[in-house]
Amino acid sequence: MKTKSLALLGATGSIGTQALEVVRQQPGRFRVAVLTAQRNAALLLAQAREFRPAAVVIGEESQYQFLKEALANQPETQVLAGAAALAEVVTRPDVDVVLTALVGYAGLLPTVAAIRAGKDIALANKETLVVAGELITGLVRQHGGRLLPVDSEHSAIFQCLVGEEANPIEKIILTASGGPFRGRDRAALATVTKAQALKHPNWDMGAKITIDSASLMNKGLEVIEAKWLFNLTNEQIEVVVHPQSIVHSLVQFQDGSLKAQLGLPDMKLPIQYALGFPERLGNDFPRFSFLAYPTLTFEAPDTATFRNLPLAFAAMRRGGNAPCILNAANEVAVAAFLREQVSFLGMADVVESCLDRVSYLAEPQLADYAATDAETRRVAAELL
Ligand code: NDP
Repeated sequence: MKTKSLALLGATGSIGTQALEVVRQQPGRFRVAVLTAQRNAALLLAQAREFRPAAVVIGEESQYQFLKEALANQPETQVLAGAAALAEVVTRPDVDVVLTALVGYAGLLPTVAAIRAGKDIALANKETLVVAGELITGLVRQHGGRLLPVDSEHSAIFQCLVGEEANPIEKIILTASGGPFRGRDRAALATVTKAQALKHPNWDMGAKITIDSASLMNKGLEVIEAKWLFNLTNEQIEVVVHPQSIVHSLVQFQDGSLKAQLGLPDMKLPIQYALGFPERLGNDFPRFSFLAYPTLTFEAPDTATFRNLPLAFAAMRRGGNAPCILNAANEVAVAAFLREQVSFLGMADVVESCLDRVSYLAEPQLADYAATDAETRRVAAELL
């Protein structure tokens, strides 16, 4: 494999730092061309000193001077700041693959810029496909890059589909851990705290996706992500709860045969698969043993308690800008929950009210998504 040159957007986060671990373990396979962060200038600086990229971008412009001075003795690394710089660095000729490991709607514009420049996208930022799946997949077809899923469930499906290009999919089954509150009813969830919600049983992730996992919004976002990644109808996507997070997802083909991908819950595996695709790279990550997991269980999701999942299915069926409304309302609700301004169950109320109140558009264009996102944030803030 030729050395691939990477732009890591969100390098200081959970996915970003694990991607850099993958890079460390594969000497000569990858070169880090770009690293970005929003506000964690100290970690971005340490990463820049270790990987010596051609550019670093810090989102918060107030941190620019600190970084610029700290990297004054490293002239090969250009220091930039702000959202426009983020959308520019991903288009550079020395970038082969852009890993979108930043959180939320902020991923949309840099991803669009990278796709327009023909780059391969290792897509962690699922919110981009939720907000604008039709637009993004259309641009990918037009510009010739590839969307390589990083989300473990979508990576599983992607891996199951290798060699099956001519075979129609009957359905896909996305597995969900069920999160820390699996089995609890609404009365028990009425008083759960931020600290409880931040304790995921199987995965160590950033705060926003950890709350999304606890509320099952994460699975709802993944349902919409899967629709666009694998060109599925709404009826072809099912969710099953699998608390051990070993079976990462399944594809059922038209002969009824099911293929699944299994492994320990470790995001480095799907990150490495996306970055190394189509090669499988050797590593010394811990191996799965059936004897350590003698029981794998499966159950239906409790959609009466965890209302975000049916809300996401409904937004997907409605189409247009409804998933964009769902996403923005959820981003505001999760941020408010993390500030202890809304209850755990109240988050779904905010999402549902926004879906009712924000203006619906059947065929949104790029500028409409920005307007929908802004309007939804305004409405959600009023509701809080
Ligand atoms: P983290 O919160 O751990 O990291 C987010 C990264 O993005 C940080 O580098 C952060 O910078 C940067 N960032 C935050 N806000 C902005 C912004 N507005 N503009 C530009 N950069 C920003 O998140 P995760 O790594 O957990 O998740 C990243 C994405 O990957 C999400 O979309 C998530 O849904 C998805 N994902 C994550 C998984 C996981 O295991 N963590 C699994 C599957 C998908 P700073 O550190 O400076 O704040």
